[in-house]
Amino acid sequence: MKKYKQIDLAKQRIKILLDYALKYYKINKQFSKNCVYHAYKIKTRFNLKFPKDFRSLYCKSCFNLLLPPDGARIRIEGKGKKIKIITTCLDCGRVIRKEVERKIY
Ligand SMILES: [Zn+2]
Repeated sequence: MKKYKQIDLAKQRIKILLDYALKYYKINKQFSKNCVYHAYKIKTRFNLKFPKDFRSLYCKSCFNLLLPPDGARIRIEGKGKKIKIITTCLDCGRVIRKEVERKIY
């Protein structure tokens, strides 16, 4: 099979797997975790990227979806121009700190 055809198939499979992961998260957590894991494996095999809105939605160490209330805890720290968004994975305890600038309209 040609390389570009393989990449096309890989992209389709990643999309299907991520859709499944989001759809079945509330029903079966382990299944959705496995879906994210396999999508990650395909992604690294073909040097691709996840969709932009999904990149910060999963835990990089245990592939759990970071959806509150039972997947993650999200806290906001700081009052000034820069605020910190602190996300804690409730499955493995990994903490992700992200500093963002507050937009003033
Ligand atoms: Zn985790």
